[in-house]
Amino acid sequence: MREYSLDVPAPERIGIDVIGVPEDQGIHIAMKLESVTEGILVTAHVTTIAEGECIRCLEPMDMPIFRNFQELYRYAPEKAHTKAQRRAAEVHDDVDEDDELMVDGETIDLSAPVRDAIVLALPINPLCELDCPGLCPRCGVKWTLLDPDHRHTVTDPRWAGLSDLLEADPDEEP
Ligand SMILES: [Zn+2]
Ligand SMILES: [Zn+2]
Repeated sequence: MREYSLDVPAPERIGIDVIGVPEDQGIHIAMKLESVTEGILVTAHVTTIAEGECIRCLEPMDMPIFRNFQELYRYAPEKAHTKAQRRAAEVHDDVDEDDELMVDGETIDLSAPVRDAIVLALPINPLCELDCPGLCPRCGVKWTLLDPDHRHTVTDPRWAGLSDLLEADPDEEP
């Protein structure tokens, strides 16, 4: 068993529209590698900071990300295997070959599970505060900045032209 600690920059933005880890953001991966019969078992803890905006008040926000994952990297199947043996192994594994992680010589590629761990840790609806009151739907100002009794007088649309005249700046040329 070996333990490693890695600090790597995000190779590209990882995330969804509203929130994600920006390119070059530091990602810390603390992991334990164990040698098992079928390959190498990786148990890792991923930490980084996602950036996005609150879906209610649109304020930019940072969000710490913590996520664990465990993945088995298999040793490449031996070439001596007969077709029948390989087929038996495939049926037995019942794993999509594309999803299967393999040990490549002396290397394991952590990018897919690290990316998945980050995406799974992201909230679909990020909020700056759980009870963020959002924006006034009429003037778009944050409720936290407005009077508690803030409201807009609703004008009959047929009179809207008149109220524009009333609110016009008197110093302005007509
Ligand atoms: Zn908010
Ligand atoms: Zn308002």
